[in-house]
Amino acid sequence: MRVPMIAGNWKMNTTVSEATKLVNEMRPVLDEIDNVEKVLCPPFISLAAVKELLKGSSIKLGAQNIYFEERGAYTGEISPLMLADLCEFVIIGHSERRQYFSETGEIVNKKVQAALRVGLKPILCIGERLEENESGRTEEVVTEQLRSSLAGIDYLSDLVIAYEPVWAIGTGKAATGEQANETIGLIRRNIARSYNKEIAQDLRILYGGSVTAANAAEFISQPEIDGALVGGASLNATEFLSIVKQTSEIRGYISKESKRGFASLT
Ligand code: PEP
Repeated sequence: MRVPMIAGNWKMNTTVSEATKLVNEMRPVLDEIDNVEKVLCPPFISLAAVKELLKGSSIKLGAQNIYFEERGAYTGEISPLMLADLCEFVIIGHSERRQYFSETGEIVNKKVQAALRVGLKPILCIGERLEENESGRTEEVVTEQLRSSLAGIDYLSDLVIAYEPVWAIGTGKAATGEQANETIGLIRRNIARSYNKEIAQDLRILYGGSVTAANAAEFISQPEIDGALVGGASLNATEFLSIVKQTSEIRGYISKESKRGFASLT
């Protein structure tokens, strides 16, 4: 059984004091929920303060990016070694990084390798752009992104994939639960072919793209979807807590009824 995950990507929002306030609002409720892995990804500058606030908490901490070199003359970059002390997860290959900072599959692959080398768990983002979706190329695009991002990586046990169709990120235009489930199913089948069925069955694959408290249940109740990477709605404590609570209730119910399976691997 894959433990569901809800991760909040705060993007380039919140000062340290705003981040502190948000964590203090969320912590008491999130700590009550033990059947969902909860991850907060504030900006780099707030990681140390949030780490302090989360002492003794079940909430995990993640960064939003990483550089692939461990140290040296790379002004402004943050190395895997610096992050390894601070957090457990790191978002890699977010479409905003691919789009605004020209991150290629090769760079994403180097970052995934660098993170794994120091024991950081990558949340690897993949997803097609609108024109690729409309021309029926979703499978081709995500297959190529998987191939390039995971080149040379043998074990996926510390990795989480987030399927984030670019047209759904920050647009308010989420995919439907069925669309997301179908693409995540094909990502899982792809992993089964490239690795093996057990690795694919154990791999958590999240949906991301305009998830809110109002539509979260539609995604979480799909058999292939193991949670969500939440952007905008993760900056609002009420919204984020509702998404985590709904996940806890839906997944708790599914696991009790043994309804959740590994539907797509046959
Ligand atoms: C994201 O930043 O990964 C994301 C999915 O953003 P939003 O939820 O705002 O679409």
